[in-house]
Amino acid sequence: MSTAANSSGRSSFLTPYKRITVKIGSSLLVDPSTGLKQEWLSSLADDIAALAAQKKEILVVSSGAIALGRTILGLGSRALRLEESQAAASAGQIALASAWSAALGAVGLKSGQILVTLGDTEERRRYLNARATMATLLKLGAVPVINENDTTATSEIRYGDNDRLAARVAAMIGSDLLVLLSDVDGLYDRPPGENTDARLIPVVDRITPEIEAMAGDAASGLSRGGMKTKLEAARIATTSGATMVIALGTRKNPLSAIAGNGTKTLFKASASPVRAYKTWIAGNLEPAGQITIDQGAEGALLRGKSLLAVGITTIKGRFVRGDTVAVLSPAGKEIARGLVAYDAADAVKIAGLKSTQIESVLGYEARAAVIHRDDMVVVGTRTETATDS
Ligand code: GLU
Repeated sequence: MSTAANSSGRSSFLTPYKRITVKIGSSLLVDPSTGLKQEWLSSLADDIAALAAQKKEILVVSSGAIALGRTILGLGSRALRLEESQAAASAGQIALASAWSAALGAVGLKSGQILVTLGDTEERRRYLNARATMATLLKLGAVPVINENDTTATSEIRYGDNDRLAARVAAMIGSDLLVLLSDVDGLYDRPPGENTDARLIPVVDRITPEIEAMAGDAASGLSRGGMKTKLEAARIATTSGATMVIALGTRKNPLSAIAGNGTKTLFKASASPVRAYKTWIAGNLEPAGQITIDQGAEGALLRGKSLLAVGITTIKGRFVRGDTVAVLSPAGKEIARGLVAYDAADAVKIAGLKSTQIESVLGYEARAAVIHRDDMVVVGTRTETATDS
């Protein structure tokens, strides 16, 4: 039985974490000669079900499409040309997604496939869309199963390794824990293959040049990522507020093993996900526009509410959905900054309107808020008291 369920009520390593992204390396899921490792996948699905039963939200970033496609298309282990690896990804991804859907279905979990490209995580507009899909799947009780869309992406526009992709996904969705399941059990002070006396580093507080120097290039035959990409992933994850763990995935029930304090390297998060995200909004981007609001909306924002169209009086700037905009009080003072959910042209059309009127003006169903409170940092405090509209 899986101990990740923690059915005894005892606390485990995973107890504090609520939204966990788990990355699975190709070599764990796929055997080059026999294909998918079905029993291993079922054991992982058991672990995921156990965590879901504890009301944790789980996202899976699964590699294995190219490795599986090689077997399916009979490409052997030779080096592949770009179009061959894209064909392998194409054939393998169907098999991979149906394997996940079956394995999670067998333990009573729904799942949804999301294939992302570099642009989906790095372009602001698409970032919001990809994130909204993942968040909606989680809300509907389904496990997002994510991979890179390898079938059309070429080297300049792709991650190429799922370590960094998983870290960006974890950052995007506000995961508090990223688990990289791998064929190594953690970071060693020197490459363990060549050095029998290499020591595992159990906890990394900060990724210093000394830590970076410990990463040899331990990519295995099937996986693209080595320790270097794992450290890059750690940097992305920890600065976005996620703790990251590298742990051995080759045994069955690998998440139970982590829950039960199995060997791993833990990289400490530098802040909570919410704080890290808000720091990023507040600090990183030049606002692309300005939205002035009325007194009622100002009061609402200061009480932690979202910005609705009805409270907007004027709009300046040429922004697109996902851009950072400044929110100004009726007196013209910046009181908040956030990621806007509409392009400027649409925002102008709906300014001052109630949410129920928006669809008839825009011709599509409105998202509830012009800036959602989760995407906003209120930077100012007001002296006088306002009433909500
Ligand atoms: N996206 C690739 C696949 O599914 C794997 C990339 C990696 O190994 O990190 O085959």
